[in-house]
Amino acid sequence: MNTETNAPIRSEDRATRPFRLSCVVPAYNESLLIGRFLPALAEAIAAITPDVEIIVVNDGSQDETGRIVSALTTTLPVHYIEFSRNFGKEAALQAGLDASTGDCVVLLDADFQHPIEVIPQMVERWRAGVDMVYTLKAHRGEEPRLRQLGSKLFYYLVSNRRGAVIPPDAGDFRLLDRRVVDALCALPERNRFMKGLYAWVGFRSEGIAITMHERPAGESKFNGLTLASLAMTGVTAFSVKPLRLVTLTGLVISVGSLGMAFWIIFEKLFLGQVIPGFTTLAAAVFLLSGVQLVSLGIVGEYVGRIFDEVKQRPRYLIAEERGRRPGRAP
Ligand code: UDP
Ligand code: MG
Repeated sequence: MNTETNAPIRSEDRATRPFRLSCVVPAYNESLLIGRFLPALAEAIAAITPDVEIIVVNDGSQDETGRIVSALTTTLPVHYIEFSRNFGKEAALQAGLDASTGDCVVLLDADFQHPIEVIPQMVERWRAGVDMVYTLKAHRGEEPRLRQLGSKLFYYLVSNRRGAVIPPDAGDFRLLDRRVVDALCALPERNRFMKGLYAWVGFRSEGIAITMHERPAGESKFNGLTLASLAMTGVTAFSVKPLRLVTLTGLVISVGSLGMAFWIIFEKLFLGQVIPGFTTLAAAVFLLSGVQLVSLGIVGEYVGRIFDEVKQRPRYLIAEERGRRPGRAP
């Protein structure tokens, strides 16, 4: 956690006190856009407050992203952080939060998809006392059926009526108050599913509807497989429903087979018939082996996460850092 920051501004003072705005931008192979994106972002936020910082986390890019951003640190209020390799977007966001010194922090992508023009509105809501302003995108209709289905299943698995509620259409584009940032940075887990963690920490939150832009150049770094793997991290970190499902399946099958055993005994004793049953037997064996392997796999996913956590490795490694902003004036 950063030590330079002073105490968070109290929500009732936000409307009147001067404040620092931090923007955290994860970037992985964004050389086509980042050189245009950072000046545009800097210009937009300079109109909000004079005290700003843009933290760019280069998540192990293999292209020119690092060189372009490093060069911009001399002319723009950019704090450049370079990872030693690709650690993934969640780690990049976390590194940005760890380094941020602002009273409020906006997280946004480097590819113009998150509309920069919404930031003033987010800051307005923060100044009015909201601790977390998240954005809701209306675009599910255009996604492939399979992804929509997967997303439904995912939100069913991670939803929890009493605890943290993860809003289904909320993205990573959001504004966080200093207190929220400090709370997130204090969470010790390594396998980070940020959307779940935002919801877990709570605080006064509000959603605003936005229209996402098309990516002007380059392509998305996420495919079905990476999304599924992220979803698995989310499910194992936020829910034990899959484990309960395993237990439930086991129970249903046990009760079912007990019933069947009684029926067979009954038939033999009172009706004098023996069920000829090689096919039934084979089908039952296959079904049960399948159920057992799947169950083992589900339990294994959780054990794997525990293994990851107990190793206590750092969430990311920084190879280079440039243009760090000085801490806020008291
Ligand atoms: N990103 C990252 N590390 C990765 C993948 C992506 O830092 O391993 C960044 C990327 O540079 C972009 C943001 O995360 O700023 C969102 O990525 P992308 O546009 O590819 O995803 P999508 O918009 O399709 O969700
Ligand atoms: Mg994108």
